Amino acid sequence: MKGKKELFGTNGVRGVVGDSMGPELVLRIGQALGAMRPGTIAVGRDSRSSGAMLVHAMKAGLLASGCSVVDCGILPTPALQFIVRGRFAAGAMITASHNPPEYNGVKVIEADGTEMGDEEVIALEERLGSGSYSLADWRGIGDEEDGSGLVDRYIDGILAHFPPGAGRGMTVAVDPGAGAACRTTPRLLERMGATVHAINATFDGTFPNRLPEPTPAGLAPLAALVRETGAAFGVAHDGDADRAVFVDDRGRYVEENREFALIAHHVCRERTGVIVTPVSTSQLIEDVAAATGCTVRYTPVGSIYVARSMLDLIAHGTDVAFGGEGNGGLIYPDHQFCRDGGMTTAMMVALLARTGRPLSELIDALPPYHFISEKKKSSRIDEIVPAVVAAFPDHSADLTDGVRIAKEKTWALVRRSGTEPIVRVMVEAPDRAGAEAMRDAVLAVIRPFLD
Ligand code: MG
Repeated sequence: MKGKKELFGTNGVRGVVGDSMGPELVLRIGQALGAMRPGTIAVGRDSRSSGAMLVHAMKAGLLASGCSVVDCGILPTPALQFIVRGRFAAGAMITASHNPPEYNGVKVIEADGTEMGDEEVIALEERLGSGSYSLADWRGIGDEEDGSGLVDRYIDGILAHFPPGAGRGMTVAVDPGAGAACRTTPRLLERMGATVHAINATFDGTFPNRLPEPTPAGLAPLAALVRETGAAFGVAHDGDADRAVFVDDRGRYVEENREFALIAHHVCRERTGVIVTPVSTSQLIEDVAAATGCTVRYTPVGSIYVARSMLDLIAHGTDVAFGGEGNGGLIYPDHQFCRDGGMTTAMMVALLARTGRPLSELIDALPPYHFISEKKKSSRIDEIVPAVVAAFPDHSADLTDGVRIAKEKTWALVRRSGTEPIVRVMVEAPDRAGAEAMRDAVLAVIRPFLD
């Protein structure tokens, strides 16, 4: 089908290695990317066991197309994005982010440091489909250079946003989960002046102690480390460290929408404008916007839509204060237009240093909300959307991604989920009874359209 991404999802190409993901596919992606973005391309990978194999395939494809490559080694996705911006023709990151160890994938980065957008990805896929690669002859094959030291630019780039010694006197527990952040977050915190205690802090592509997705259960050892060391907080990342999640000083997992709200409030004290976030984000962000004189702009679900929307707004003269998702993926417009787990960690240090209050207290001061998420089988989202709009005439309706209806502090979202014939229903309200009533009302409306 033309005009639709087939191979790439909202976060690049992903698959199980040895099944839908392997060196032949990555070689072809390298050849196609090289033909589209001639010049020097920076490559990097997360710590997965299949990473070396796939990065070699990527480099072979790029070199064959006449591009030169700079291999940055294992590093976070936002580090490669920072390195690419303004200095390379493109970037190619071998990563499957938070997916289990058997997965791997490719994320393509543009010269401005953002993930490749939908239209360009479709053009890339068309090249893959047609095999139009324009390979170089033997004289035109590119060179490879070692870029393993370039990660320092990323750490320096984050530090430049904070006064020297911003973390002095603070103890921080870190769990990079044996992923890419082993190389960056402990060092970043030490350079801020913090005392660092780390677990799972050496690369291991089998992820022996916890999966690349940070979960409350997986972070129990981090919580214990926080309590043992009296740390101000614990921080953990997914496999490629574009996300950061936190454990408070009492060892409690900080729900990611609350993390987003807390940091958004800190950022928006100093700058007003639009806060950009997907339609699935908590009402907490509306509360922050109201308290800081900002407004909220909703995007479809997917960090690339948040980043692109921020850039579009800025290009049209709108002030953008902040962006992010309710999963610990936060975007700082003064820094770069992608989720950045290292920057989020540094911002938490700065926030706690400014307030002088424990993280647990700050989190507990946020208003409580009750959230419900359900999946239902249906392929009739096109009929569901107008039915929901019609059934709630006194609610506002946002049709950015499915339908999001809202009234006062209660909202509901019904959207198509990924590639499966499933709709996801999300509801949030100030209390459980309100959320359940809203869920029941929405389900009653969509029931005729379920399989
Ligand atoms: Mg990630």
